Amino acid sequence: MATAAVVATAIAVPQAEGSTSTADSSLPAAQHAEQKAGGKPAPDARDVVLAVHGGAGTALDPATTSPELEKAYRDGLSEALRAGQKVLNRGGNSTDAVQAAVERLEDNPLFNAGKGAVFNADAEHELDASIMRGSDLKAGAVAGVRNVRNPIQAARLVMDKSNHVMLAGEGADDFAAQHGLKTVTQDYYFTQARWDALMKAKAAEAGDTNAAKSKALPADEQSKGTVGAVAIDRKKDLAAATSTGGLTNKLPGRVGDSPIIGAGTYAKNGVVAASATGAGEVFIRGAATSTISNLIEFGKMNVPQAAHQVIVKRLPQLGGTGGVIALGPDGTFDAPHSSPGMLHGYLTKDGTLVTRIFPDESPANS
Ligand code: ASP
Repeated sequence: MATAAVVATAIAVPQAEGSTSTADSSLPAAQHAEQKAGGKPAPDARDVVLAVHGGAGTALDPATTSPELEKAYRDGLSEALRAGQKVLNRGGNSTDAVQAAVERLEDNPLFNAGKGAVFNADAEHELDASIMRGSDLKAGAVAGVRNVRNPIQAARLVMDKSNHVMLAGEGADDFAAQHGLKTVTQDYYFTQARWDALMKAKAAEAGDTNAAKSKALPADEQSKGTVGAVAIDRKKDLAAATSTGGLTNKLPGRVGDSPIIGAGTYAKNGVVAASATGAGEVFIRGAATSTISNLIEFGKMNVPQAAHQVIVKRLPQLGGTGGVIALGPDGTFDAPHSSPGMLHGYLTKDGTLVTRIFPDESPANS
């Protein structure tokens, strides 16, 4: 059975202004989760400088997840946090930190972004990503790219080197290649688990329920595996980034919430940095991350209240579940999800690193 904290150090953290929380990130994960579930909305942790998620979806079952797979997930999240931490520790900015964290997750075949992206209905890969800087609300995004090795780098290029916010399809691939980004052929993204998931989806679509049942998804496929990161740097600049292969068996050309600023990704200094994961169509219709920001800025909610309001209260009414990682300017962090599970982790300013992959570490609807 898992222990949630990679490094379980007790830390003393001040209560953020305006918060009614009694949550304490020094508690063991299960106890912490129980406390959160009982008294929502309460923050997951305080004094957080960087957080990542590895997607919402079906919860990983501690009883059937092998120790090797558990370790692979925790290592994947930890490596991404370490990559972002390196940037912040050398005085780098939060935009570079979230990009570095997401690049690591894109390179990890366990997650549905970059290598390991899901297949669409034509058995091909189309990837989406976005990044946003809270200091000036600059943002960049790509949708439906097919040959960029790291879509988050292409999103960053759109932000830095074009007058646009989003490029899609061939134009986005060409733009990335012209600016020297590494390109790959479609087979680079292949993983057996994602192929099996497509076959299962096709079988279910064809009404062949026996075939669908006989091909049970491996545990690493249960989470949808979109990735994201949020960070705050020394200058108190917030940033957020998200990257995904989308949904298995999606229609070719379908774009989800991940590359859409205000749906999958949003960052505004003094307010919040947020990266979402879940049923993309609902997150677009509910303007998920910008609504969280607006509830904080104009609705006078704190980060946990706003994130909970959108993810647990509003989006399920539109017919979709998922989760968000949300980081406030004072380091208040929350990761509510209405899906059974959401892989995530965070790093506090004293260097404590926590990963949460099982439901007892992070219960749904909390
Ligand atoms: N939100 C992503 C999409 O709809 C999928 C996910 O987060 O699992 O493309």
